[in-house]
Amino acid sequence: MKVGIVGCGLGGLLIGGLLAKDGFSVKIYEQLPFIGGRFTHFDYDGFKLTTGALHMIPHGSRGYLANILKKVGANVNIVDSNPDGTFLINGKEYLYNELFSILNAKDKLKAINLATKLKLKNVNKNISFGEFLEDIDLALKIGRAFTGWSLSLSPYDVPLSEILNIMDNYHKFGGPGIPIGGCKKVIDELERIILNSGGEIVKEYEVKSIEIEEDKGYIDDEEFDIVISNISPQKTQEICNIKFLNKDVEPAGGIKINIATKKGIIKHGGVLFTPECERVNGLNQVTNVDKSLAPEGWHLVMTHQALLSKNIKKEIDLGLEDIERLFKDIDYKILLIQSYFDGWPVNYVKSGISINNIISDRFYLVGDGAKPSGGIEVEGIAMGVLKVYNHIVKKYGKN
Ligand code: FAD
Repeated sequence: MKVGIVGCGLGGLLIGGLLAKDGFSVKIYEQLPFIGGRFTHFDYDGFKLTTGALHMIPHGSRGYLANILKKVGANVNIVDSNPDGTFLINGKEYLYNELFSILNAKDKLKAINLATKLKLKNVNKNISFGEFLEDIDLALKIGRAFTGWSLSLSPYDVPLSEILNIMDNYHKFGGPGIPIGGCKKVIDELERIILNSGGEIVKEYEVKSIEIEEDKGYIDDEEFDIVISNISPQKTQEICNIKFLNKDVEPAGGIKINIATKKGIIKHGGVLFTPECERVNGLNQVTNVDKSLAPEGWHLVMTHQALLSKNIKKEIDLGLEDIERLFKDIDYKILLIQSYFDGWPVNYVKSGISINNIISDRFYLVGDGAKPSGGIEVEGIAMGVLKVYNHIVKKYGKN
């Protein structure tokens, strides 16, 4: 069976890899001269700066993405972070389970009350995470750092139900990890697997139309048995004869600042959340795990912040002021400031909004615009890819 895929980001490569390994004839179209979309990197004076992702896989070596990589035979070593993260409060770093101890007596009682409600599942899941936390000032700040870093959203933009599903996955699979060789290693391996399985990747080809009929589909003029779109649901609908979005969906935006430092600022390979910063939600220092991501003697630090207004310059300036305070005694230099919105956002669709990715037996969506609930970043992409893959194999068998 012939499968045509529009877009060669992580989503397109994952589904392409799974189907090519099963004998499907896979052809992927990519508009850019490089593949991997927002999950790859390029060399910048020896620093491996990414097109998007922070070189981190949310559930590390045990999550959905790691399992697909294992299934297709990708040779990627993911090193789990230990600890997952720490929180910088009043100049001191705390582990998650130490945060309770710094609450005042009144807030401790409120926190016990919230935790009990959660345990008994006695909560209104339709409220936002922000509303759930707002009675405890520190909890709201921590929640803001978490949703800003991991979803590029304010906690008031994330339904509590989404956070509960994310927590379930966290308990099942654990916290983040870093792929040795960075994002591009994942992409290179998937490309190798697709090409070795007889698949084709066409670069610098912008798809202009998707036409779906009952028993076949077309990408521009080429006929396929199955069509899969890895571009945003919004853009897919614009170029497609089928209308599947029944509501307006918005992307999530963010700003990433790449920093070089010899001394380093973080001791571990996880995330340093910064609840007290004006804009920066957290930072990581991936060279603690993989030294090859920076020139010898240097660390690569990336800060991330959710984009809270359309005034990009002001948002960047506030981020830079945070960085100046965070690095007060440490020499550093800014390598590159990257902002993500509109056509190249952090997520095509905000987390918490789930779009059905099986539009028909001939037509599917993959990528971060069509993530199932609870799927955080690339883990959500992998969850969506598995759903599509299982549907196709059940319907058509292996080729
Ligand atoms: P994309 O990567 O956007 O791929 C889609 C591809 O389709 C692109 O290559 C595009 O050029 C191509 N395309 C578009 N239109 C056409 C067309 N008409 N014809 C042909 N090709 C087309 N996730 C994590 O898990 N961990 C992180 O640490 C992390 N950090 C992030 C930090 C930032 C700053 C950003 C921006 C994102 C981060 N993410 C992270 C999210 C993650 O990078 C993305 O969710 C993921 O890379 C999206 O993959 P995708 O396949 O859905 O889309």
